[in-house]
Amino acid sequence: MRAYLRNFRFLGVLLPLICSTLVSAESAVTQIGKGLYAYISDSDASANSTFLVGDAGILVVDTGLNATEASKLLGAIRRISALPVKFVVNTHYHPDHQGGNAVVGPSATVISTDFTRERTMAIQGNPGMTSFHFEPANLTFQQQITLHLEPYTVQIYFPGKAHTSGDALVHFPEQRAISMGDLFLNRSSPAMDDGSVESWIHALDNVLELPLDNVVPGHFELAKKSELKRFRDYLNDLYEQVRVLKQKNETLEQVRHDIHMEKYSDFRQNAKYEATFADNATVIYQQMHAH
Ligand SMILES: [Zn+2]
Repeated sequence: MRAYLRNFRFLGVLLPLICSTLVSAESAVTQIGKGLYAYISDSDASANSTFLVGDAGILVVDTGLNATEASKLLGAIRRISALPVKFVVNTHYHPDHQGGNAVVGPSATVISTDFTRERTMAIQGNPGMTSFHFEPANLTFQQQITLHLEPYTVQIYFPGKAHTSGDALVHFPEQRAISMGDLFLNRSSPAMDDGSVESWIHALDNVLELPLDNVVPGHFELAKKSELKRFRDYLNDLYEQVRVLKQKNETLEQVRHDIHMEKYSDFRQNAKYEATFADNATVIYQQMHAH
Protein backbone atom coordinates (compact mmCIF):
# COMPACT_ATOMS: atom_id res chain seq x y z
CA MET A 1 0.00 0.00 0.00
CA ARG A 2 2.75 2.40 0.91
CA ALA A 3 4.60 1.51 -2.28
CA TYR A 4 1.44 2.06 -4.27
CA LEU A 5 0.95 5.49 -2.72
CA ARG A 6 4.53 6.39 -3.41
CA ASN A 7 4.13 5.40 -7.05
CA PHE A 8 0.87 7.22 -7.29
CA ARG A 9 2.39 10.40 -5.89
CA PHE A 10 5.31 9.99 -8.25
CA LEU A 11 2.96 9.73 -11.24
CA GLY A 12 0.86 12.61 -9.98
CA VAL A 13 3.90 14.87 -10.09
CA LEU A 14 5.21 13.55 -13.35
CA LEU A 15 2.10 13.20 -15.50
CA PRO A 16 1.24 16.89 -15.86
CA LEU A 17 4.85 17.49 -16.88
CA ILE A 18 4.81 14.74 -19.50
CA CYS A 19 1.46 15.85 -20.87
CA SER A 20 2.32 19.52 -21.14
CA THR A 21 5.60 18.62 -22.87
CA LEU A 22 3.80 16.46 -25.40
CA VAL A 23 1.13 19.06 -26.05
CA SER A 24 3.59 21.90 -26.53
CA ALA A 25 5.85 19.71 -28.67
CA GLU A 26 2.94 18.87 -30.93
CA SER A 27 1.73 22.42 -31.25
CA ALA A 28 5.14 24.01 -31.61
CA VAL A 29 7.06 21.99 -34.20
CA THR A 30 6.05 21.83 -37.87
CA GLN A 31 8.03 20.15 -40.62
CA ILE A 32 8.20 22.70 -43.45
CA GLY A 33 10.45 20.90 -45.92
CA LYS A 34 12.94 18.06 -46.31
CA GLY A 35 14.88 17.95 -43.02
CA LEU A 36 13.56 21.40 -42.04
CA TYR A 37 11.42 22.25 -38.99
CA ALA A 38 9.86 25.45 -37.63
CA TYR A 39 9.76 25.71 -33.84
CA ILE A 40 7.11 28.21 -32.79
CA SER A 41 7.76 29.27 -29.20
CA ASP A 42 4.84 29.14 -26.77
CA SER A 43 6.32 32.18 -24.99
CA ASP A 44 5.97 35.61 -26.63
CA ALA A 45 9.09 36.70 -24.76
CA SER A 46 11.21 34.04 -26.45
CA ALA A 47 11.95 33.90 -30.19
CA ASN A 48 10.92 31.22 -32.66
CA SER A 49 13.60 28.90 -34.02
CA THR A 50 14.19 26.87 -37.19
CA PHE A 51 16.28 23.72 -37.42
CA LEU A 52 17.67 21.76 -40.35
CA VAL A 53 18.68 18.13 -39.94
CA GLY A 54 21.45 17.17 -42.37
CA ASP A 55 23.16 13.80 -42.90
CA ALA A 56 25.73 14.34 -40.16
CA GLY A 57 24.55 17.25 -38.03
CA ILE A 58 21.98 19.92 -37.30
CA LEU A 59 21.82 23.68 -37.86
CA VAL A 60 19.64 25.78 -35.54
CA VAL A 61 18.51 29.35 -36.23
CA ASP A 62 18.02 31.29 -32.94
CA THR A 63 18.04 29.56 -29.57
CA GLY A 64 15.49 31.29 -27.33
CA LEU A 65 15.66 33.60 -24.34
CA ASN A 66 17.40 31.50 -21.71
CA ALA A 67 18.26 27.98 -20.53
CA THR A 68 14.60 27.13 -19.82
CA GLU A 69 13.41 28.07 -23.31
CA ALA A 70 16.50 26.50 -24.88
CA SER A 71 15.82 23.20 -23.08
CA LYS A 72 12.31 23.13 -24.53
CA LEU A 73 13.76 23.74 -27.99
CA LEU A 74 16.47 21.12 -27.57
CA GLY A 75 13.83 18.64 -26.36
CA ALA A 76 11.85 19.24 -29.53
CA ILE A 77 14.97 18.74 -31.66
CA ARG A 78 15.86 15.51 -29.82
CA ARG A 79 12.42 14.03 -30.51
CA ILE A 80 13.34 14.26 -34.19
CA SER A 81 17.08 13.60 -34.32
CA ALA A 82 19.97 12.54 -32.08
CA LEU A 83 22.61 14.10 -34.38
CA PRO A 84 24.90 16.78 -32.93
CA VAL A 85 23.98 20.47 -33.27
CA LYS A 86 26.92 21.62 -35.37
CA PHE A 87 25.86 25.15 -36.27
CA VAL A 88 23.87 27.88 -34.55
CA VAL A 89 22.88 31.03 -36.45
CA ASN A 90 21.81 34.11 -34.46
CA THR A 91 19.67 36.45 -36.57
CA HIS A 92 20.56 39.40 -34.30
CA TYR A 93 21.92 40.27 -30.88
CA HIS A 94 18.72 40.50 -28.81
CA PRO A 95 18.81 38.04 -25.89
CA ASP A 96 15.51 36.35 -26.82
CA HIS A 97 17.24 35.08 -29.99
CA GLN A 98 20.60 34.00 -28.63
CA GLY A 99 20.20 33.44 -24.88
CA GLY A 100 20.03 29.68 -25.36
CA ASN A 101 23.18 29.17 -27.48
CA ALA A 102 25.14 27.37 -24.76
CA VAL A 103 22.30 24.91 -24.05
CA VAL A 104 21.23 24.18 -27.64
CA GLY A 105 24.71 23.97 -29.18
CA PRO A 106 27.44 23.76 -26.52
CA SER A 107 30.01 22.66 -29.11
CA ALA A 108 28.43 24.28 -32.16
CA THR A 109 30.00 26.89 -34.43
CA VAL A 110 27.99 30.05 -33.75
CA ILE A 111 27.42 32.23 -36.82
CA SER A 112 26.25 35.86 -37.01
CA THR A 113 26.99 39.12 -38.79
CA ASP A 114 30.05 41.06 -37.60
CA PHE A 115 27.64 43.67 -36.23
CA THR A 116 25.72 41.14 -34.12
CA ARG A 117 28.95 39.86 -32.56
CA GLU A 118 30.14 43.40 -31.83
CA ARG A 119 26.83 44.38 -30.21
CA THR A 120 26.76 41.14 -28.22
CA MET A 121 30.25 41.82 -26.85
CA ALA A 122 29.17 45.37 -26.02
CA ILE A 123 26.01 44.49 -24.07
CA GLN A 124 27.42 41.41 -22.34
CA GLY A 125 28.68 43.35 -19.33
CA ASN A 126 25.68 45.70 -19.03
CA PRO A 127 24.08 45.66 -15.56
CA GLY A 128 20.64 45.00 -17.08
CA MET A 129 21.91 41.98 -19.02
CA THR A 130 23.46 39.94 -16.22
CA SER A 131 20.56 37.47 -16.16
CA PHE A 132 21.29 36.43 -19.76
CA HIS A 133 23.94 34.05 -20.94
CA PHE A 134 25.72 35.08 -24.12
CA GLU A 135 27.82 32.92 -26.39
CA PRO A 136 28.99 35.37 -29.09
CA ALA A 137 29.54 34.08 -32.62
CA ASN A 138 32.92 32.58 -33.52
CA LEU A 139 32.23 32.75 -37.26
CA THR A 140 31.09 36.11 -38.59
CA PHE A 141 30.40 37.67 -41.96
CA GLN A 142 29.50 41.03 -43.43
CA GLN A 143 27.34 40.28 -46.49
CA GLN A 144 26.66 36.56 -46.85
CA ILE A 145 27.83 33.07 -46.19
CA THR A 146 26.77 29.79 -47.81
CA LEU A 147 26.73 26.75 -45.60
CA HIS A 148 26.74 23.22 -47.02
CA LEU A 149 24.97 21.03 -44.51
CA GLU A 150 24.91 17.98 -46.73
CA PRO A 151 22.73 17.25 -48.59
CA TYR A 152 21.34 20.81 -48.18
CA THR A 153 22.51 24.34 -48.87
CA VAL A 154 21.82 27.24 -46.51
CA GLN A 155 22.20 30.88 -47.49
CA ILE A 156 22.76 33.27 -44.61
CA TYR A 157 22.82 36.96 -45.56
CA PHE A 158 22.64 40.55 -44.40
CA PRO A 159 19.60 42.11 -46.16
CA GLY A 160 20.52 45.73 -45.32
CA LYS A 161 19.67 47.70 -42.16
CA ALA A 162 16.24 46.76 -40.86
CA HIS A 163 15.16 45.72 -37.33
CA THR A 164 18.78 46.34 -36.22
CA SER A 165 21.78 47.51 -38.23
CA GLY A 166 23.08 43.97 -38.68
CA ASP A 167 20.33 41.34 -38.92
CA ALA A 168 20.81 38.06 -40.78
CA LEU A 169 18.19 36.19 -42.79
CA VAL A 170 18.51 32.44 -43.34
CA HIS A 171 17.24 31.10 -46.65
CA PHE A 172 16.70 27.39 -47.35
CA PRO A 173 16.32 27.31 -51.15
CA GLU A 174 15.68 23.56 -51.51
CA GLN A 175 12.94 23.72 -48.89
CA ARG A 176 11.50 26.99 -50.26
CA ALA A 177 11.60 28.52 -46.76
CA ILE A 178 13.21 31.42 -44.92
CA SER A 179 13.85 32.39 -41.28
CA MET A 180 13.24 36.09 -40.84
CA GLY A 181 14.40 36.88 -37.29
CA ASP A 182 12.62 40.03 -36.14
CA LEU A 183 12.36 41.43 -39.68
CA PHE A 184 8.95 39.79 -39.57
CA LEU A 185 6.51 39.37 -36.70
CA ASN A 186 3.34 37.69 -37.86
CA ARG A 187 0.28 39.95 -37.50
CA SER A 188 2.10 42.23 -35.11
CA SER A 189 3.76 45.64 -34.86
CA PRO A 190 7.47 44.98 -34.51
CA ALA A 191 9.94 46.33 -32.01
CA MET A 192 12.40 48.64 -33.76
CA ASP A 193 16.01 48.91 -32.74
CA ASP A 194 18.59 51.17 -34.44
CA GLY A 195 17.99 50.11 -38.02
CA SER A 196 16.18 51.61 -41.01
CA VAL A 197 12.50 51.16 -41.82
CA GLU A 198 13.06 52.41 -45.36
CA SER A 199 15.69 49.76 -46.07
CA TRP A 200 13.64 47.20 -44.08
CA ILE A 201 10.76 47.57 -46.58
CA HIS A 202 13.24 47.01 -49.46
CA ALA A 203 14.57 43.91 -47.72
CA LEU A 204 11.03 42.51 -47.40
CA ASP A 205 10.33 43.27 -51.08
CA ASN A 206 13.41 41.25 -52.00
CA VAL A 207 12.32 38.33 -49.81
CA LEU A 208 8.87 38.42 -51.44
CA GLU A 209 10.56 37.80 -54.82
CA LEU A 210 11.92 34.44 -53.63
CA PRO A 211 10.02 31.22 -54.32
CA LEU A 212 8.80 30.43 -50.79
CA ASP A 213 6.22 28.06 -49.32
CA ASN A 214 6.91 28.91 -45.66
CA VAL A 215 8.13 31.94 -43.76
CA VAL A 216 9.30 31.59 -40.14
CA PRO A 217 8.72 34.85 -38.25
CA GLY A 218 10.81 35.93 -35.24
CA HIS A 219 7.69 35.67 -33.08
CA PHE A 220 4.17 34.25 -33.35
CA GLU A 221 2.62 31.83 -35.83
CA LEU A 222 4.32 30.19 -38.80
CA ALA A 223 3.42 32.14 -41.94
CA LYS A 224 2.98 32.08 -45.68
CA LYS A 225 4.07 34.76 -48.11
CA SER A 226 0.66 36.45 -47.96
CA GLU A 227 1.17 37.23 -44.26
CA LEU A 228 4.68 38.53 -44.89
CA LYS A 229 3.23 40.72 -47.63
CA ARG A 230 0.65 42.13 -45.23
CA PHE A 231 3.37 42.93 -42.68
CA ARG A 232 5.37 44.64 -45.44
CA ASP A 233 2.28 46.66 -46.39
CA TYR A 234 1.83 47.69 -42.75
CA LEU A 235 5.37 49.08 -42.62
CA ASN A 236 4.98 50.74 -46.01
CA ASP A 237 1.56 52.31 -45.20
CA LEU A 238 2.87 53.67 -41.92
CA TYR A 239 6.05 54.94 -43.55
CA GLU A 240 4.09 56.78 -46.26
CA GLN A 241 1.67 58.32 -43.76
CA VAL A 242 4.49 59.59 -41.55
CA ARG A 243 6.28 60.99 -44.62
CA VAL A 244 3.20 62.94 -45.77
CA LEU A 245 2.38 64.26 -42.27
CA LYS A 246 5.96 65.30 -41.76
CA GLN A 247 5.92 67.17 -45.06
CA LYS A 248 2.98 69.13 -43.62
CA ASN A 249 5.36 70.08 -40.80
CA GLU A 250 3.46 68.14 -38.17
CA THR A 251 5.27 67.62 -34.87
CA LEU A 252 6.03 64.13 -33.61
CA GLU A 253 3.09 64.36 -31.18
CA GLN A 254 0.73 65.30 -34.03
CA VAL A 255 2.05 62.51 -36.24
CA ARG A 256 1.55 59.93 -33.48
CA HIS A 257 -2.06 61.11 -33.21
CA ASP A 258 -2.87 61.53 -36.91
CA ILE A 259 -1.81 58.16 -38.33
CA HIS A 260 -4.69 55.92 -39.46
CA MET A 261 -3.94 52.24 -39.11
CA GLU A 262 -7.48 50.84 -38.79
CA LYS A 263 -6.70 48.42 -41.63
CA TYR A 264 -4.33 46.68 -39.25
CA SER A 265 -6.59 46.62 -36.18
CA ASP A 266 -6.03 42.86 -35.87
CA PHE A 267 -2.27 43.41 -35.33
CA ARG A 268 -0.84 42.87 -31.85
CA GLN A 269 0.62 46.00 -30.29
CA ASN A 270 2.97 45.70 -27.35
CA ALA A 271 3.75 48.86 -25.40
CA LYS A 272 6.25 46.98 -23.22
CA TYR A 273 8.56 46.52 -26.22
CA GLU A 274 7.71 49.98 -27.66
CA ALA A 275 5.92 48.14 -30.42
CA THR A 276 2.66 50.04 -30.98
CA PHE A 277 1.60 51.81 -34.18
CA ALA A 278 2.50 55.15 -32.54
CA ASP A 279 5.87 53.79 -31.34
CA ASN A 280 6.65 52.58 -34.86
CA ALA A 281 5.60 55.97 -36.28
CA THR A 282 7.97 57.65 -33.80
CA VAL A 283 10.94 55.59 -34.97
CA ILE A 284 10.12 56.30 -38.62
CA TYR A 285 9.78 60.02 -37.85
CA GLN A 286 13.11 60.09 -36.06
CA GLN A 287 14.86 58.14 -38.83
CA MET A 288 13.54 60.68 -41.37
CA HIS A 289 14.65 63.51 -39.11
CA ALA A 290 18.19 62.15 -39.12
CA HIS A 291 18.39 62.48 -42.91
ZN1 LIG B 1 14.79 41.61 -31.83
